[in-house]
Amino acid sequence: MLFHRVAIVGIGLIGSSLARVLKHNRLAETVVVYDKNPEYGKKAVEIGVADENVGSAAAAAAGADLVILSTPVGAYGEISKEIMPVLKKGTIITDVGSVKKYAIAEIEKHIPADSGIVYIPGHPVAGTEKSGPEAGFLELFEGRWCILTPGKFATSAALEKISEMWRAAKMKIDTMTPEHHDKVMAAVSHLPHLIAFSIVGTVADLEGYEQQEIIKYSASGFRDFTRIAGSDPTMWRDILLNNKETILELIQRFVEDLIALERNIRWDEGDKLFELFSRTQKIRKEVIEAKQDQPEIEKKILAEINRE
Ligand code: NAP
Repeated sequence: MLFHRVAIVGIGLIGSSLARVLKHNRLAETVVVYDKNPEYGKKAVEIGVADENVGSAAAAAAGADLVILSTPVGAYGEISKEIMPVLKKGTIITDVGSVKKYAIAEIEKHIPADSGIVYIPGHPVAGTEKSGPEAGFLELFEGRWCILTPGKFATSAALEKISEMWRAAKMKIDTMTPEHHDKVMAAVSHLPHLIAFSIVGTVADLEGYEQQEIIKYSASGFRDFTRIAGSDPTMWRDILLNNKETILELIQRFVEDLIALERNIRWDEGDKLFELFSRTQKIRKEVIEAKQDQPEIEKKILAEINRE
C-alpha cells in the first residue's frame, strides 16, 4: 500500500475519480472524505469509493498520511487553515487545482515552517463538465497528462509517491513551474472555456431567433460549445479570477484575431480564410496524433456523461 489513511476534501468529479483509482489499485488502507455537501460524502461511502465520511476537513485530515484537496481552488485557503493544526509531521498534502500560482499561495501560507508537512501541488489535466461523486469514474485520467509543480515544501520521496499515485491512474507525468503551468493552461484550457461561455451566452441571447430552434439545430456546432460551457460555475469563476493577468493578455490577442477575421470576411479575402482554416485543420490532426482525443476513451466518457 502506498498510503495508510488518505483524506479527500471535496468528493466531486475529480476527488471521486481519484478515490476510485485509490480503491481499485489498493493504494490506501482507508479513504476518508469530507465534502461541504453532506449528501456527497454519504453517497461516496454508499457507492464504495470511500470508507468513511466525516463532518469537517480537520476530522478527515487528522491522522492522514495524504490529504488531497479537490474542492474549487477558492476554498483551498480556508481548508488549509483548518487542517494544518491536526496534521502530523511527514503528512503529504496535494491538490488538483486548475490554477497553480494562486492555489500554491493559498496553501503554502498556512504551512508552518519546520512543521515537516510536505506539499506537492498537482493538476490532472482531465475532466468533464459534470460534478459530484457519481459523475466520477475510474478511467477519467487514462492517457492524459498530470502536471506537478513541486516547490519549497516538496521532498523527492513525496514527489515520487504522488507520481506513483497518478501513474496508477494511467496518467503521464510532467513537472514544471507554477508560472509556466498557468501560462500554458491559459492558452489550452482557460481561453477556450472563456470563449465557450461567451459564445453560448451570445447565441442564447440573440434577438430574433427562436430559443427552441437554437436547441433543435444545435448539433451543427453550438452543441460542442455547450459541452464546455456547461462546466461548473464556481470552479470556472475561481480559475478565471485567479489567472487574471495571463487571461487578460490572451483575451486581447483573441479580440485582435477576431477583428482580423471580420475584416477578411468583409473584404472577401477568401485566401486568408482558407489559409487559417487549413492551419487549424492541421492542428486538429496533430491533437489526434498526440492521442489527446482518443475515440475509445471519449466513448467511455460520453457513456458516463449520458448515464442518468
Ligand atoms: P466538483 O465536482 O464540483 O467537486 C468539488 C466538490 O467540493 C463539490 O462537491 C463542492 O461542494 C465541494 N466543496 C466546495 N467547497 C468546499 C469546502 N470548503 N469544503 C469541502 N468541500 C467543498 O468539482 P471538480 O470538477 O471535481 O473540481 C475540483 C477541483 O479539481 C477544482 O479545484 C478544479 O480546478 C480541479 N480540476 C477540475 C477539472 C474538471 O475538468 N472538472 C479538471 C482538473 C482539475 P458544493 O458543490 O456544495 O460546493
